[in-house]
Amino acid sequence: MIDAVEQLDVVKGRIAAAEREAKRPGGEVTLVAVSKTFDADAIRPVIGAGQRVFGENRVQEAQGKWPALKAEFPDVELHLIGPLQSNKAKEAVALFDVIETVDREKIAAELAKEIARQGATPRLYVQVNTGSEPQKAGIEPREAVAFVKRCREVHGLKIEGLMCIPPAEENPGPHFALLAKLAREAGVEKLSMGMSGDYELAVAFGATGVRVGSAIFGTR
Ligand SMILES: *Cc1c(COP(=O)(O)O)cnc(C)c1O
Repeated sequence: MIDAVEQLDVVKGRIAAAEREAKRPGGEVTLVAVSKTFDADAIRPVIGAGQRVFGENRVQEAQGKWPALKAEFPDVELHLIGPLQSNKAKEAVALFDVIETVDREKIAAELAKEIARQGATPRLYVQVNTGSEPQKAGIEPREAVAFVKRCREVHGLKIEGLMCIPPAEENPGPHFALLAKLAREAGVEKLSMGMSGDYELAVAFGATGVRVGSAIFGTR
């Protein structure tokens, strides 16, 4: 069985090396440890080893394990990295510190409503479907800059960054470059890109956060 605490160290070391290689300041890239499908007992040692930022892709699954873990470790920061249904906006705003998957008008409107109602302040990213894949969530690249603007001006949402999941079978480099370009055009600073197979490349392309699951917790 994979030792998640050992693997966490390996991944952190490789991120640090990628930062040096890219001549970026050490510690600039946030590691989001993706704990989807793993239960609280698998996650707790990783928190014990010092990891504080985690990602989950389903609201309902996260609700089953994170309220108790957050009570135990109040400084944990939880990111929603999976598609958000508008009927789950209330729960998402209540549980997550960062919602990375804002990708359409209806979600933006629901989030704005819940943020006002709950007085919560989740940080928000817009997900971009850089490969224009029909089955994948995310706004089309050509609409992304205007959508960020509408989130701000129409819905009063403060968008901090962009997120993408490149097509599985393609070289991710051009997708990371596109996301970085769109972020500059939209005037946002955070870039969530890179997973177990390509996080070092993402660091080279300017990722500020990488989402790594199986390289830490093992295969799902
Ligand atoms: C599962 C998931 C990850 C992590 O994937 P790994 O290949 O296991 O590192 C990253 N981002 C998103 C959006 C995911 O759903």
